[in-house]
Amino acid sequence: MKLVLATRNLGKVKELTVMLTEYREASENKQDLKDIEILSLQDFPDAPEVEEDKDTYEGNASKKASVIADYTGIRALADDAGLEVDALDGAPGVHSKRWAGEDVTDAVRIQKLLEALEGSKNRKARFVAAIAIAEPSIVNDTIDEKTTSVDNIQVVVGKCEGSITDTPAGDGGFGYDPIFIPDGYDKTFAELGDTIKNRISHRSDALRQAIILL
Ligand code: IMP
Repeated sequence: MKLVLATRNLGKVKELTVMLTEYREASENKQDLKDIEILSLQDFPDAPEVEEDKDTYEGNASKKASVIADYTGIRALADDAGLEVDALDGAPGVHSKRWAGEDVTDAVRIQKLLEALEGSKNRKARFVAAIAIAEPSIVNDTIDEKTTSVDNIQVVVGKCEGSITDTPAGDGGFGYDPIFIPDGYDKTFAELGDTIKNRISHRSDALRQAIILL
């Protein structure tokens, strides 16, 4: 079985591939999962760019998975994630990437968030991730033409509760990792490193549920 990860973000491809491989190795009975061949948009350089213009994580993940399953004719897995801060009424949320402006660095995103939270005692926040799996079905398979349609999309949502620090710490991970401490730990995601993050993150929570759908 082939599965294409609908992302160009190499950090995400690595994170999802490591997690999927671990689950695959742990799944003794699921032959389908054992045979899974993981591809990404690196294997489809001409795949269309998908604009994340929906106002929910589920909407964006479904849109990306659907477009890529349609384009490749292969089952596609897409995710969309964000950071929700209670004192900011859930912002930056689904707009986490663009909240501080187009094409800014992670350092600028972090700075803006810390400024918005300055003086606030309530540092509670959570990462949320939706993962969608879209299944293509072949509607026309002749010598001249092969067309697919996507008629089956399933979405799951994962979370990781935690709090926002006063200053960034650590150089691992990406995005808001240097200012997010998951509940039960006293270090940021960026300090905890990939092994722990992959075990407790919002994406791993969602992926654990998504694996059951594969
Ligand atoms: P995406 O749409 O899933 O790529 O996520 C949108 C934005 O949310 C990213 O640009 C990051 O700023 C933030 N984000 C999502 N997941 C994570 C994470 O695991 N760690 C830190 N930041 C994240």
